[in-house]
Amino acid sequence: MDYFPVFLDLKQRRCLLVGGGDIATRKGRLLARAGARLCIVAPEISDELQQLARDGDGELHWREYQSEDLDEVVLVCSATDDNELNQRISHEAQARYLPTNVVDSPALCSFITPAIVDRSPLVIAISSGGEAPVLARMVRAKLETLVPATYGRLAQLASRWRERVKQAFPEEYRRRFWEKVLQGPIAELVFTGQEDKAEKAIEKDLANPQYVDKEGEVYLVGGGPGDPELLTLRALRLMQQADVVLYDRLVSPQVMDLVRRDADRIYVGKRRSDHSMPQENINELLLKLAREGKRVLRLKGGDPFIFGRGGEEIELLASKGIPFQVVPGITAASGCAAYAGIPLTHRDHAQSVRFVTGHLKSDDINLVWPELALPGQTLVFYMSLVGLEGICQTLIQNGRNPETPVALVEKGTTQDQRVLVGTLETMAELVAANDVHGPTLLIVGEVVRLHRQLAWFSPDRPNAQKIDDNET
Ligand code: SAH
Repeated sequence: MDYFPVFLDLKQRRCLLVGGGDIATRKGRLLARAGARLCIVAPEISDELQQLARDGDGELHWREYQSEDLDEVVLVCSATDDNELNQRISHEAQARYLPTNVVDSPALCSFITPAIVDRSPLVIAISSGGEAPVLARMVRAKLETLVPATYGRLAQLASRWRERVKQAFPEEYRRRFWEKVLQGPIAELVFTGQEDKAEKAIEKDLANPQYVDKEGEVYLVGGGPGDPELLTLRALRLMQQADVVLYDRLVSPQVMDLVRRDADRIYVGKRRSDHSMPQENINELLLKLAREGKRVLRLKGGDPFIFGRGGEEIELLASKGIPFQVVPGITAASGCAAYAGIPLTHRDHAQSVRFVTGHLKSDDINLVWPELALPGQTLVFYMSLVGLEGICQTLIQNGRNPETPVALVEKGTTQDQRVLVGTLETMAELVAANDVHGPTLLIVGEVVRLHRQLAWFSPDRPNAQKIDDNET
């Protein structure tokens, strides 16, 4: 983040605006909207600016800038077409630690102004840090269409009732109450101009505390393989309304970034060697938090029902009658295959695909190798980095062609994705030579050949060399 976003309270405060032309007028309009007292200095000042200053108890000085203009102001904007003057103003203002903005000269600014969507009191500010203003404006245009103009009125309604709701409900129920008000029938009443009815409905709900149920619930959500754009809409919505989130190592930081900022975060580990929290404790914790009335987000990598122990986590909840829902996610096999350009099935090469655990150490795993070694199918091994050599060897011993192409996808769908391509015979060596880190997924089958032609995703991983043993 190159800039720290803030909202400044400028009401009744003197703000210096140097310049009186079109651009200055635009700045002046914005400052006036925020209630600033405009102190305008310029040899010529547009009619509109003059009016804005007069309406807002401001000042007009028809002359050149002088250093004393910086006295007793809280903010400085320079919008002159004189480069030297702009530089001088920036220099002097910043020497006095005043927030300074020089139009179109980011280097001379200590703050920049964002593109805004104004639904006061709701204001959305968008900035590209000055790097891509056109993009910021495009995002603004999208938001303009997305956020109904009447949201301002909804925000005003919320503001009117804020205190009373605060007194009526403890904190954790308050947010739920507001969510119901702001996206339910009451919001619709406001949107259709029936604010009096909306007020009555709130009044009624406040009088009836049963309105907000006190029971917590659990959302078992698949966070996908890494790229946050692969989240489902439902996952995103639940992530935005959780009180607490339990997550593990496979959930990417970019996905975690989308969880509601105020939610408590509990890391519950899950690495091969570091089970920071035993599975039973996770199950118990989910139960305990839900019983406290919290909305608990159990966020897991990929899909919760594919090698994710998702079933175990909700069995306990189900037996205790705690409400829960399960949201599927893109499993590593789909994500990695798509982002590596390897279709998992293909009419010519593979008529079926199997998702197989590669975590072979545990006694209760009994794979039927002669079946896995049959041609015409794609095998996807999860958790297979440690056992990789054994897997390839065993497949060959059971009759699968040693030349069968194999891909190892490392950190699939993320900006660190790397794809190693070899064969059952060469893969172990290739991995040993390439300093591979988890998570990795092993794809075995003829479909891997398509990678060379269909790979489309190029992450910005530094030194991303193509590793394809079949290339020579
Ligand atoms: N529930 C998860 C899988 C959990 S098992 C899912 O549906 O994807 C953990 C294994 O998933 C890892 O050992 C690795 O094999 C695989 N995996 C998860 N994310 C991955 C990624 N981004 N790239 C490659 N493999 C991944």
